[in-house]
Amino acid sequence: MLNSAKFPNRTISDKYRPRYSDDLETLASALEHSLSGTSETVESYEMALARYFFAKEAIAVSSGAAALSVALGALGVKAGDEVLLTPTCPLCTVYPVLAAGAVPIFVDTQKNHFTAELKSLDRALSKRTRAIIDIPMWGYPTPVDHLQSFARNCSIPLILDLAHAHGTQLHGKSLSAYADLACFSTHERKPLATGEGGFILTDDQTLAQRCRLYSRFGNLNGRDFGLNYKLGALPAALGQSRLKHLDSQLGIRRHNAERLMEQLAHPQIHELPIIDGGEPNYYFLNLKLAFEDNQRFIDYLDQHGIPSDIKRYGCRCLYEFPALAAYRRECLNGAELLASITTIPVHPGLSDADMDYIAHVINLYQEA
Ligand SMILES: *Cc1c(COP(=O)(O)O)cnc(C)c1O
Repeated sequence: MLNSAKFPNRTISDKYRPRYSDDLETLASALEHSLSGTSETVESYEMALARYFFAKEAIAVSSGAAALSVALGALGVKAGDEVLLTPTCPLCTVYPVLAAGAVPIFVDTQKNHFTAELKSLDRALSKRTRAIIDIPMWGYPTPVDHLQSFARNCSIPLILDLAHAHGTQLHGKSLSAYADLACFSTHERKPLATGEGGFILTDDQTLAQRCRLYSRFGNLNGRDFGLNYKLGALPAALGQSRLKHLDSQLGIRRHNAERLMEQLAHPQIHELPIIDGGEPNYYFLNLKLAFEDNQRFIDYLDQHGIPSDIKRYGCRCLYEFPALAAYRRECLNGAELLASITTIPVHPGLSDADMDYIAHVINLYQEA
């Protein structure tokens, strides 16, 4: 049925690798200057990031994981301290917590959003709680404004892991505006891509200074501990140049998501609800599934060349993985949320015909 002339099978790639016509020129001119992480090129990138995201300070670092390690270091998180986070994020978010010697305390998500449930956070607070990390997955806005008020009320710093969420907005502001420290990745697969890389945004000058110190061996002053998490000038130059293309890239993602949603006519499939005042960046389109067996639907899409992050990464609550089994704390909302969604690629590498194909394949699905 699907192999009709109009809809031959396609393979939809979820690996978008942006190339821009000015990339080469950007790299060539960066080569004329220092390539180190303390070069003017990196400073200029940091200023461009701060301007783009309306943050007071930006600190460029070598990866998204580095951004988290530096954020934890800047907050003075040390061995035995507790860090609260939801278990519905990638392993990438929790490993830096373990690297700091801190104890991850898993808290449940809200029913329909990848953000911590306040009641669950409240129950998990202890004398040793030093930070909350929240992870809005796949670029969907979450009620981080309420989370920010909660964190402020109990004087616990809030880190947002926004590795998926460049350009995601809530009430007209970047999600980063709601964090004490907002961590981003610029890995090749993320909306702003420099190969490897990351950055931290903050409005707090003291925290910014501590992030700089921590990511630069404490400026080798022998008093402040630090490691080397600096970003080199070549990826910084690429990042600054590609930042100019980010809005148009996100526009194409939105167009692709809208084109697909207009055509979807399956009663058991809806977009994951978008909170009031929120705007996704469409890093991935998230579909909420209401089948008896959602995994079967995800396998069906996969067989028709439409990949899902849920399948690719075997997404489940982190305490289900051997490395995190010791930190198990049942999170029913989170488990249900992960088991009831799938991700659909909507990146600019896909054509209108690709989007039409995806809609067609989805609409033809029949529950056994
Ligand atoms: C990609 C990612 C990271 C890690 O970023 P790297 O740049 O690969 O180190 C952290 N958290 C989330 C949610 C991610 O998607």
